[in-house]
Amino acid sequence: MTIHGAIEAGGTKFVCAVGAAETGSLRTATIATRDPDSTFAEVAAFFEDAADLGPVSGIGIASFGPVGVDPASPDYGRILATPKPGWEGTDLLARVRAFRDVPLAIDTDVNAAALAEVAAVGGDLRQLAYVTVGTGIGVGLVSEGRAVHGIGHPEAGHILVRRHPAHGDFAGTCPFHGDCLEGLAAGPAVSAAWGSPASELPADHPFWAVEADYLAQLCMTLFLTMAPERIVMGGGVMKQERLLPLIRARTAELLGGYVQGARDMAAMEQRIVGPACREPSGLVGAFLLAERAARHHAGTASRI
Ligand code: ADP
Ligand code: ZN
Repeated sequence: MTIHGAIEAGGTKFVCAVGAAETGSLRTATIATRDPDSTFAEVAAFFEDAADLGPVSGIGIASFGPVGVDPASPDYGRILATPKPGWEGTDLLARVRAFRDVPLAIDTDVNAAALAEVAAVGGDLRQLAYVTVGTGIGVGLVSEGRAVHGIGHPEAGHILVRRHPAHGDFAGTCPFHGDCLEGLAAGPAVSAAWGSPASELPADHPFWAVEADYLAQLCMTLFLTMAPERIVMGGGVMKQERLLPLIRARTAELLGGYVQGARDMAAMEQRIVGPACREPSGLVGAFLLAERAARHHAGTASRI
């Protein structure tokens, strides 16, 4: 069996794995994200230890953003403007190549997750959006089997939304835009506006309808712009099980029947869903990136 390496590089933790997308991880390790030198020392040690499982044919990286995803740009594989101290400009591909010279590929964690979610349902979806609602709001897009890139990667977590009256004049927490979607509805915004993290708000708290309204505005925008067959909702905040049905109902209401099937709640249940992957979608996506790098571009860092 051919095995691959996967790294899900996050702002709070790096998850490393050896295995394959289809069969799952054979071994994983979770490493706290510190400065790049000490973090990558641990990543290298993981792959060293995992050498007994056999050589990896490629390594895929699903990274927090913003990150350079255009192989023609000098920024390819580098972390761009980030508030995370010490990480701006870090060349993730070079850091991995320093300990393992195999084909490498990188994309955002959410684009990788979107690729994994397409694969998890047999690969025959034309358009899919993966949304994570956690410390930030990230959106990955796959169109016709490829992750969407253009001027960098999509950043739909920062769209402007219509403010919910319950938020009053709350300024929002996005350092770039204040009250964009992420600034109103990601984890830090929840704590700032409601006085407790989302994980501690009871299921019957009025907050959940407000959160659903904002996320439904994102879903509406995604349906209207890319017509996805499926929007997958993941991330820590989505662990509140009440949220998904609220988002479906509010999205249907906002769309007003304007998108095919939008009034049909059975159809909406197929279109706005939780993750289908058995492991974290970003990690599975990193395996897929590794597979593609190994298959198509042996020996060189590649665009997927
Ligand atoms: P990150 O974005 O850093 O990867 P997560 O996706 O785990 O992190 O999201 C963290 C957020 O998820 C926090 O704001 C936390 O309050 C929220 N969260 C975690 N567990 C739950 C839960 N069971 N219900 C609702 N919110 C949760
Ligand atoms: Zn923003």
